[in-house]
Amino acid sequence: MSLVTAGHAWAAVLNRDRRCDGRFVYAVSSTGVYCRPSCPSRRPTRDHVMFFDSPPQAEAAGYRACLRCRPQSSAGSDADQRVERARRYLDAHPDELITLRRLAAQVGLSPFHLQRTFTRVVGLSPKKYQDTRRMARFTSALKRGETVTSATYEAGFGSSSSLYARAHEELGMTPSAFRSGGTGITLRYTTAPTAVGRILVAVTERGIAAVRLGDTAAALAASFRHDYPKAMLRQDTAGLRQHVRAILQCLIGDIDATFFSLDVKATVFQRKVWQALQQIPRGETRSYQEIARSIGQPTAARAVARACATNQIAVAIPCHRAVRGDGQLAGYRWGLERKKRLLALERR
Ligand SMILES: [Zn+2]
Repeated sequence: MSLVTAGHAWAAVLNRDRRCDGRFVYAVSSTGVYCRPSCPSRRPTRDHVMFFDSPPQAEAAGYRACLRCRPQSSAGSDADQRVERARRYLDAHPDELITLRRLAAQVGLSPFHLQRTFTRVVGLSPKKYQDTRRMARFTSALKRGETVTSATYEAGFGSSSSLYARAHEELGMTPSAFRSGGTGITLRYTTAPTAVGRILVAVTERGIAAVRLGDTAAALAASFRHDYPKAMLRQDTAGLRQHVRAILQCLIGDIDATFFSLDVKATVFQRKVWQALQQIPRGETRSYQEIARSIGQPTAARAVARACATNQIAVAIPCHRAVRGDGQLAGYRWGLERKKRLLALERR
């Protein structure tokens, strides 16, 4: 392989890029084993890696096939193709309730095998996948300004009865409130000084809806108002004293980030990312890639970065602990300098 191609190949290995399976294999001189790019085993160091265009070439060079990813067999990629067909089938039938049995029959796998392979490849079970897609169609229809009823139909929810409960959970507010930029919801908020600048804390009846960092109370309140043009915003410093105290305690490590009840709109994926962030020990960082792997979606590093960038709840969802693959801090919604200070504070 040429140097340029090897560079791409190595990037694919680091990302466990499933799309490159079948295009090349990589061999590890320290173990004598060769793997497909998506192999789940630990990444070798670059110095020990050689690339081959095909399994026979690697074998000819004296390497043996990895027992985990079985690069020499086409079984894995066949199952992957069936999963891809199953995924397309689900996408093509948004308004039907498709049982695992029916889906399995459709692609010629046993229900058990399909469930397992689908979850491994896609990162969600078939049912969860269909739910997630539906909810995504639903929210994007709402954002386009459609009525809740028509969005419900368009998304493929036959009846809206169970939808409301679920949508409320996913969106952090009722679908109607979501559609109208916060109409009908009341947010109480306050600001307070901290070691890393001013914070704004906002709550609904259900929990903390926002924690933001900024320089001044006025600037924080103004941008908050800007983001919730139609919500009822009420400053309530006395009423939020406990919340603020808890956030401050979380900052200095006296209470855990998982302590808070949050009221935040999020997709299933965002929720997974945020939970993973909360599990990073204080003062430590993880790359977007590592977080993607930890939630079982190794190719989703970019989506993880996006989820971090859209986090509404600083500190309690510690997105400041997510960094780029090269260890650089990358961006932070509330300023890079502040991210550094947060991490320095945690490492004390
Ligand atoms: Zn392998």
